[in-house]
Amino acid sequence: MTTDYGKLTWEEVRDADKDRVVILNVSATEDHGPHMPLDTDTVLGMAVANGVAAAAPDEVLVMPPIAYGFNEHHKDFPGVIWIQPETLIAFVTDVTKSLAHHGFRRILLLNSHGSNHPILDLSARKTVIETGIICVSASYWNLCADRINEHRKSDIGGIAHAGEFEAAMYAHLQPEHVHIEKSAAQNLHDPQTNFFNLDLAMGGGKAMLMRWWSEVSPDGTMGDPTVADPETGKLFLTAAIEETTALVREIRALPILARKDHH
Ligand SMILES: [Zn+2]
Repeated sequence: MTTDYGKLTWEEVRDADKDRVVILNVSATEDHGPHMPLDTDTVLGMAVANGVAAAAPDEVLVMPPIAYGFNEHHKDFPGVIWIQPETLIAFVTDVTKSLAHHGFRRILLLNSHGSNHPILDLSARKTVIETGIICVSASYWNLCADRINEHRKSDIGGIAHAGEFEAAMYAHLQPEHVHIEKSAAQNLHDPQTNFFNLDLAMGGGKAMLMRWWSEVSPDGTMGDPTVADPETGKLFLTAAIEETTALVREIRALPILARKDHH
């Protein structure tokens, strides 16, 4: 059976193993510097999801992605399509509740855009409350942060948005769409602060202030794409796929528990 949800017939959905983990990638359509296209988060998120499906074809189904996210703070850069957080939570939970209605019991909301992280956390929690099924959210870089740091060339601050991590993976997947020669390093790491630095693999964000993107980045980049290369991108992507596959297997093994009303 195909792992591509959109290619299933209704009879195949009816007969499907409902303990397959249904993966829903939620991404964004937004600026990724002068060196990468608007669809970066979707291309990378779906590469991870489809990589998991190739590694575990009997254990998952992959939904068509939601290619828009919570990113109004990027709108000074042309091309950004932003969704209000309330709308996105409602949209995502309509998808998850539809899946629950059809009998699926295990969903992974796979995030590939930073500012969707709290949105998908809340969406997963709402799904659990409203349906009783298992719904997990994860941002894929968090699953493989240690392995990113084994392979990266950039210093701390080099992996945030359109930096080494994303540029290297996109260059591995579709080199014709990545123009590293147009990129510039925008490493904003500030050793003077203990709370406000952001590197996707080296922590930060203990306290959160999300400024307008145009206030902090001249060209949409945050990080260092200048050191990105496709060979390292392949290593990053392999790590992301392997760790997400491991997560999927843990989700499949989670027990379905029973509530008990103590009134
Ligand atoms: Zn991105």
